Amino acid sequence: MQIPEFKYNPNAYLLNIIEKKNITCTCCGQQREYRYEGPFYSEDEIDKICPWCIKDGSAAKKYNGEFQDSGSIEDINNEAAIDEVIHRTPGYSGMQQEVWLAHCGDLCAFIGFATAKLIKPVLSELKEDIENSGYEIDDILESIDAEEYGGYLFKCLHCGKHRLHLDTA
Ligand SMILES: [Zn+2]
Ligand SMILES: [Zn+2]
Repeated sequence: MQIPEFKYNPNAYLLNIIEKKNITCTCCGQQREYRYEGPFYSEDEIDKICPWCIKDGSAAKKYNGEFQDSGSIEDINNEAAIDEVIHRTPGYSGMQQEVWLAHCGDLCAFIGFATAKLIKPVLSELKEDIENSGYEIDDILESIDAEEYGGYLFKCLHCGKHRLHLDTA
C-alpha cells in the first residue's frame, strides 16, 4: 500500500514526524507500520494515529482535532490551504506554539528543523523573518545547533522562497 504524502509537510517521514512503528491505529483500528509523532490538539488523548487517517481527514473529524492550531497560522485568505494544514497534514513540534507560515497566497511547506548548516545557504531569503523575530542573526547561527533556539524552516510552494519561524526554549 502506498504511503500517503503530504504537500504541506513533504518530509514528515524523513523528519520522523511519522515514524516507522507497528501500531493499531486508534482511529481506523487497522494494523499500521507508521505512527504519527507530532502534535494533535484534541480533547481526547489520541496517541496512535496512522498517516492514512491524517490524509483523509478522518482523525481530525472523529476527534474534532487539529494538527496545527488554527489561531497560529499566518493571516492568509485561502480557506482550502488552511483546512488542509489544520485537518489533513501532519504538524511539527516546536519549543513553543507552532506557527505555520505563508507566502504567495498559500501556506508554505514545512521543510525541516533548522540547523546552522541548513539555513546558512538561504540566509538572504530569511533576513526579514529573522529581523522580525527580534533575535540576532549571529546569535541564531551560534546557538541554534545547541537548541537554545528553535528554527522551523518553510518553503513557498510557488516561488520557492524559504521562510523561517523562530522560538526559544
Ligand atoms: Zn488510521
Ligand atoms: Zn512565494
